[in-house]
Amino acid sequence: MVATSLADASATYASRGRARHFTCEHVSQTFTGDRGEVVALTDVSLAVDVNEFLCIVGPSGCGKSTLLRIIADLQTPTAGTVRFEGEHAEHRGRSGLVVQEHGTFPWLSAVDNVAFGLKLAGIPTAERRVRAMAFLERVGLAAFANHYPHELSVGMRQRLGIGRAMVGHAPLLLMDEPFGALDAQTRRHMQGELLGIWAADRRTVVFVTHDIDEAVLLGDRVVVMSGRPGRILADVPVPFARPRDLRRDAAESRALVEDIWRLLDTPPATVAR
Ligand code: ADP
Ligand code: MG
Repeated sequence: MVATSLADASATYASRGRARHFTCEHVSQTFTGDRGEVVALTDVSLAVDVNEFLCIVGPSGCGKSTLLRIIADLQTPTAGTVRFEGEHAEHRGRSGLVVQEHGTFPWLSAVDNVAFGLKLAGIPTAERRVRAMAFLERVGLAAFANHYPHELSVGMRQRLGIGRAMVGHAPLLLMDEPFGALDAQTRRHMQGELLGIWAADRRTVVFVTHDIDEAVLLGDRVVVMSGRPGRILADVPVPFARPRDLRRDAAESRALVEDIWRLLDTPPATVAR
């Protein structure tokens, strides 16, 4: 059965006993526009450990992208704070953000788009090109190295944006529905690649998706958010051993996915806080 809501982020952290990467403390976001106020997030508290793979699921409009932007320090929340811990306190801005669209620079070729991530990481020019090419190989874009983004399909552009973020060594990867635009087969491939890269070169990942199967396949933990205004409904550990084989754990993973669906389908007033 699914765990109850995350009442106290620090208590959760203490029980896991790993180094913490950052904590969102009582984060709320209200947007004020011409047509009044939109409350996007209310009182979101969340602790994320170093090298953890955290997935966030929730209905469209519940503030998932807003939360990622706040974590990336691209936006200051209306209330609450995001606190980075230890060595990460100094590197607040060093996160790789993969957005749903426009994740590439249109004026750079594919190989230069990926190399750009390495430039940010301080890798010398010659090495950048070699590593960028090796990476394009991994994501199936080697033949398109010298193409510009507008010459690629939507799915290819998305893979390129993912590649650029993954190839750099940002300690925190923030991924906003990165595989949403991909066809099913490419999506499976990219999920595998992402897990492979994460296993070989651990870093903290916060991965937003509206696909619960994807969250259970990828995450160490799934944070479930309610519809707008977004708040955390539940914080669900994913118990399956890695490397994951969800055919092996088919019954258990199905049950977990169903539990999360039930939470999302529960009318707000009846969800225990
Ligand atoms: P999600 O990513 O979960 O679909 P978002 O974080 O994009 O949700 O948006 C949450 C809510 O906040 C939505 O109702 C959206 O319209 C609103 N919103 C997001 N960004 C802005 C903004 N810059 N100005 C006004 N409203 C916004
Ligand atoms: Mg979004």
